[in-house]
Amino acid sequence: MHNDIPLLTPTMHERHGRWPQAVSVDDFRRNLAAVHARMAAACQRVGRDPAGVRLLPVSKTKPEASLRLAYAAGCRMLGENKPQEAGRKWEAMADLADLQWSVIGHLQTNKAKLVARFASEFQALDSLRVAEALERRLQAEGRGLDVFVQVNTSGEASKYGLPPDEVAAFLRQLPAFPALRVRGLMTLALLSAEAVRVRRCFVLLRTLRDRLRQDVPHGIGLDELSMGMSGDYEIAIEEGATVVRVGQAIFGARDTPDSHYWPAAEGGRAVNHAE
Ligand SMILES: *Cc1c(COP(=O)(O)O)cnc(C)c1O
Repeated sequence: MHNDIPLLTPTMHERHGRWPQAVSVDDFRRNLAAVHARMAAACQRVGRDPAGVRLLPVSKTKPEASLRLAYAAGCRMLGENKPQEAGRKWEAMADLADLQWSVIGHLQTNKAKLVARFASEFQALDSLRVAEALERRLQAEGRGLDVFVQVNTSGEASKYGLPPDEVAAFLRQLPAFPALRVRGLMTLALLSAEAVRVRRCFVLLRTLRDRLRQDVPHGIGLDELSMGMSGDYEIAIEEGATVVRVGQAIFGARDTPDSHYWPAAEGGRAVNHAE
């Protein structure tokens, strides 16, 4: 499909852990504008409409004050990796009635009740047990939830997400959970400075989606592809991302090591950096 793309778009993973902190509304406005400009340029390179790509700012580890600056700069949905951290922030910021929350990290069934209360979107569905737990809690709350099925496209054993060859069978089970509005697929690429290997993960998710879309179960949507973060969102957009999840390029570097959020991190995701 995208045979004519500029294959040399580099990653920005070398900036991982070094993005400057945003400490004012102006900082957030500037960072958001810069990311949007790069998103638009990536769209232009492959002939896509920028309106077809949503920026999800990721606020994990950042304090409430920082999230409020992001809100003041115009953010109306924030992504958080850990359900409990997300829940705490949701409660603390309940005064911002139009602020929505997207949970983008692995969920244990015992946290389904919490997520069913406040989340608008859950991007890391990868088991029937979690689907069942969410469905039950959402029914009790009288709520629905937009969900993305997480796929492991990097082949890293400890990475969350379904292996690509299990996704079709998994999707066939999902119509049994009407409170879950399935929107598409999500992945985390290899965190590598080698753009070719990163791009391969995104291509895998897109081709999987294109194949599955040919006989998708009734009521299941596969329009969305959530892929790309601060270091690689431009490449993800060139390969068809409709949602990019960007934290550090908007909020600034995180103090917390990535191993806290990604089981495979342990330095491993960082080892590949060309530094
Ligand atoms: C933290 C996180 C991101 C954003 O990473 P940045 O490097 O801050 O842009 C994206 N997706 C998931 C699942 C995350 O946990």
